[in-house]
Amino acid sequence: MNGGSFKKTREASHVAYQIKKAAVLGSGVMGSGIAAHLANIGIPVLLLDIVPGKLTEQEEAQGLTLESSQVRNKIATGAIQNLLKQKPAPLTTKSNLSLIEAGNFEDDLEKLKDVDWIIEVIVERLDVKKGLYEKIDAVRKPGTIISSNTSGISIEAMAEGRSEDFQKHFLGTHFFNPPRYLKLLEVIPASTTAPEVVEFMTSFGEDRLGKGVVIAKDTPNFIANRIGTYGLLITLREMEKRGYSIGEVDSVTGTLIGRPKSATFRTLDVVGLDTFMHVAKNVYDKTVGEEQKVFKLPPFMKKMIDNGWIGAKAKQGFYSKQGKDILELDTETFEYGPAKKLKTPSIEMAKQQKGLANKVKTLVYANDRTGEILWNIIAPTLLYSAELHGEIADDIVAIDNAMKWGFGWQQGPFEIWDAIGVAKSMEKMKEEGATVPAFVQRLLDKGYETFYSEQDGDLHFFDGEDYKLVPVNEKAINLKRYKKKHGVIKKNSGASLIDLGDGVALLEFHSQSNSIGPDIIQMINYAVDEVEKNYKGLVIGNQGKNFCVGANLGMILMEAQDDNIFELDFIIRSFQNAMMKIKYSTKPVVAAPFGMTLGGGAEVCLPAAHIQASMETYIGLVEVGVGLIPGGGGNVNLYTKHLKGLPKGVHIDYQFVANKVFESIAMAKVSTSGEEARDNNFLDFADGVSVNGDHLIYDAKQVALALYENGYKAPKHEKIPVTGDSGYATMLLGAEGMFLSGFISEHDLKIAKKLAFVLAGGKVPYGTLVDEQYMLDLEREAFLSLVAEPKSQQRMQHMLVKGKPLRN
Ligand code: NAD
Repeated sequence: MNGGSFKKTREASHVAYQIKKAAVLGSGVMGSGIAAHLANIGIPVLLLDIVPGKLTEQEEAQGLTLESSQVRNKIATGAIQNLLKQKPAPLTTKSNLSLIEAGNFEDDLEKLKDVDWIIEVIVERLDVKKGLYEKIDAVRKPGTIISSNTSGISIEAMAEGRSEDFQKHFLGTHFFNPPRYLKLLEVIPASTTAPEVVEFMTSFGEDRLGKGVVIAKDTPNFIANRIGTYGLLITLREMEKRGYSIGEVDSVTGTLIGRPKSATFRTLDVVGLDTFMHVAKNVYDKTVGEEQKVFKLPPFMKKMIDNGWIGAKAKQGFYSKQGKDILELDTETFEYGPAKKLKTPSIEMAKQQKGLANKVKTLVYANDRTGEILWNIIAPTLLYSAELHGEIADDIVAIDNAMKWGFGWQQGPFEIWDAIGVAKSMEKMKEEGATVPAFVQRLLDKGYETFYSEQDGDLHFFDGEDYKLVPVNEKAINLKRYKKKHGVIKKNSGASLIDLGDGVALLEFHSQSNSIGPDIIQMINYAVDEVEKNYKGLVIGNQGKNFCVGANLGMILMEAQDDNIFELDFIIRSFQNAMMKIKYSTKPVVAAPFGMTLGGGAEVCLPAAHIQASMETYIGLVEVGVGLIPGGGGNVNLYTKHLKGLPKGVHIDYQFVANKVFESIAMAKVSTSGEEARDNNFLDFADGVSVNGDHLIYDAKQVALALYENGYKAPKHEKIPVTGDSGYATMLLGAEGMFLSGFISEHDLKIAKKLAFVLAGGKVPYGTLVDEQYMLDLEREAFLSLVAEPKSQQRMQHMLVKGKPLRN
């Protein structure tokens, strides 16, 4: 969190405000997305929009009138239905839709009396927004929080003329598109907003909405859009001035410098040039001089907008997809041609460097075409950020976080500045005629070299006078920093065991893509032994890009190609044993998955006493994609997890259970969220979902402690009821049908047979109770026979080389 000044009132504000129900006014792009996000976190939402002015022909034919509620609510109703079609999905599970109720501004304003938070998300026009607020002011109950999602209209101006209670509870809450996925929430107080309201929204934003909250000042476009728009426009200007093509600029302004893959122009195409024009105009109208000049759109962009070439929604913008080819626009001739890329020595040199900071440093000072464009877009953006320090935000932490969370930059402007050297870059800027911003001058006058400084393992930032501690939210444990400060208990190449404090240890994977190999298996065994002896519980979690993308496929393929079946048998056996060690640990083990949690990654979670998943968890047993079935107990553990949720003492048709598990593994189903993982039975009713991914390790630790304190007992070794011969035949029916209709290949069918055999518990009668170890043995045999298949090896090879499954 930023803005430590709000911290003191935090406790009290929790008591003063509570959001049990919300209303979202406006069901357009942002309004519907915000409503979906509220539903995702379990808050019932009233979604209102305008009443249409006339009937469609179809409505008239149906005998509907402008008085029919179906017609009056149709804009919001349509937006709700549309949520199911959008990609990426705004809802974490379809059933959340039932939490959103449609209505309209004419018939339903009275209902605003029953809500605790009203979010206005209508057209970006001050007069229209103010008109609506007047009506709301007349009906809302005192104490209801009201906020605007405006991209840049003054919060102060919007609050003008409203009642005192309204003004006290009014502020800006600026979500980024799409609201479920983009982390940034700018909270913008007006001078009239009560500090406890700002404080409440900040903690609500972090804890319940799961956002990264930044307090912004009430200035045009706030923080992220002010700097982001400036950076994009500078890029356009420099591209034109220096004669670069669109593709060339994109080839060096994306992942190469720690920014999203969509770089500059693909980002603009996705945002839409029309939307971008409004955002730029917001600042243009409120600035003067040199600054204002930057916010004037170049003529070629205006022409693109006139032509309707506004980006992805018009299927043409800076890029146009023709057949399989993506063509770039020539902004002089207005013709599309093959996209070019910059290829310069500095790019190769940068790739050799370790860490983003060194890569960017190599690039900006390079004496070639890449260096030229990057220097000329990065340097002005840094200067602009420094000039705005204090005006748009209180500190550099807020500015850096806003750019990272709102624009997907890996480093904010001041972090980039540290990386390229403040004094060195400032010298170069001065040579080119730039004035040193007062804020930077103060840093240099103090003899400091960087905006951030690490002291005793804690991060500090320069506040214009001196270094101050970067405020740390105790729930947002930063593992990298934590390890620097506290060290590790034990470490090998794939994983570390860390003392998280309060008697809980953390097993962190840190192998390549966090894939599981013998090093991680060894650490799992060590971790459980150590925790059983000396700790209250174990968390398995990390803060990599993804929790774990599976077992180390390269190693498995190599052993398979060398016919090292004996070695593979040993590896799989030890993988299975380690999973059983997690399952039967006498101390609670809590798995904390997030992002991609595939194959072996899912297998590590299934045996844990509890799964605390991030809201953004994409979990599944996807081994069939590489010609295999799960080999680390995934089959039996997913099956028993399904069984565990069933009531005791009632007749159960195990076939339904087996079919469900079979379908999940055979179709390599992956959840699109933590909630959907529950629908898929990877999580059970007692498992948890953390909305804020940054709080995941903390939340998992609290669960481990609670389980321990409540007298955790390891599960008993119980016999497992299986479906046997008849179950095998039933599971295969569907697969054979799919094969005959050409939906799956012969090799898919072979894998399906092996899988069905394992899940059915082999050749036994229906209802037989078998040992867990027996099922694990079946699993291992099936895995080893598949791994030796040439077609499975081709699939593995393809995945390793191309990163996607081969259907052979
Ligand atoms: P949109 O055009 O998709 O939706 C606008 C909504 O306003 C619609 O529901 C429409 O029916 C309603 N509306 C239109 N005229 C109205 C009137 N006279 N009275 C009341 N309602 C009216 O727009 P959007 O992109 O969802 O933007 C909504 C707000 O969110 C704006 O303030 C915008 O600046 C802001 N915003 C947009 C984005 C984005 O990326 N689109 C991002 C952040 C903030």
